[in-house]
Amino acid sequence: GITFEQVVKRFGDNVVLDHLDFAVGAGERVTLIGPSGSGKTTILRLLMTLERPDGGVIRVGDDPLWHMERGGKLVKAGEKHLHEMRKRIGMVFQQFNLFPNMNVLRNLTEGPVHVLGLSRDEAVERARGLLELVGLADKEDAHPTRLSGGQQQRVAIARALAMEPTVLLLDEVTSALDPELVVGVQDLLRDIARSTDVTMLCVTHEMGFARDISDRVLMFDQGRIIEEGPPGTIFEEPREERTRAFLRAVL
Ligand code: ATP
Repeated sequence: GITFEQVVKRFGDNVVLDHLDFAVGAGERVTLIGPSGSGKTTILRLLMTLERPDGGVIRVGDDPLWHMERGGKLVKAGEKHLHEMRKRIGMVFQQFNLFPNMNVLRNLTEGPVHVLGLSRDEAVERARGLLELVGLADKEDAHPTRLSGGQQQRVAIARALAMEPTVLLLDEVTSALDPELVVGVQDLLRDIARSTDVTMLCVTHEMGFARDISDRVLMFDQGRIIEEGPPGTIFEEPREERTRAFLRAVL
C-alpha cells in the first residue's frame, strides 16, 4: 500500500498539499477527484520521487521514500533503496510517453531486461502475454507513432504491467484520447482491476470511470481531502456542498 503522513508540499508561497494524511491499502483501488490545481497530480509525482515534499512521510509498503532527520531536515532514502521502490511502482501518464525509437515489443521488454534482469526470452514471453491482454498481439513489430492514441495508451499500460508493479499510478490516462477511444482503455483498466491485485491510485476527470473502478474516492480541494467514501456514496449522496458543486460542474 501507500501512506501519506502529514505531507506538505509548497511551490513558493503556494501550499499545494497541507499536512495531507491518507492511506491506500494493498490491492485497493483509489481515485482522486477534485478541481484543477487541487494537488492530485502532485501526489503521483511525489510517489514517483519527481517532486520533493516539504514535510511529512510518504511510504510505499513499509518503506519511507523520505524521512525526517533529527533537527527537522528532510532526507531522501538512499539511491539504491529508491531504485528498489521505483521498481514496484508503475505509472501511466496522460501523454503515453512510449519510447519513440523502439517498436512495441521492445517498449515492453526494455524495463524487464535492464531493470529487473530478466533474460530477453523471458521478457519477450511476458511482453507477448501482455500484448494479448491489451488486444494488441498483432502489433508487436509496429512503431508507436503508427498506432492510434488508444492503442498507444494500451501499450503504455502493458509496459507498466510488464514490470509487475505492486502499485499502478494512473494520471488522466484517457484525457488525451479521442472520445471513441476512451471506452476501450477504460474497459481494459477495469479488466486489470478485476483480474490482478495491483494497488491502483488514479487521477481522473471521468466520473463514470472513477465510479466503476474505485473501491474508494477521495475528493480534494485546495490540497486537502474534504470528503471520501465508496463511489456510491460520493457520487449519490455527497455530504459536502463543495463536492456537490464540483460534481454538478463535471457530470
Ligand atoms: P489538474 O486536475 O489540473 O491536473 P491537479 O489537482 O492535478 O490539477 P496539480 O497539478 O497537482 O493539480 O497542481 C497543484 C498546484 O501546484 C497548482 O496550483 C499548480 O499550479 C502548482 N504546481 C504544480 N507543479 C508546479 C511546479 N513545478 N512549479 C510551480 N507550481 C506548480
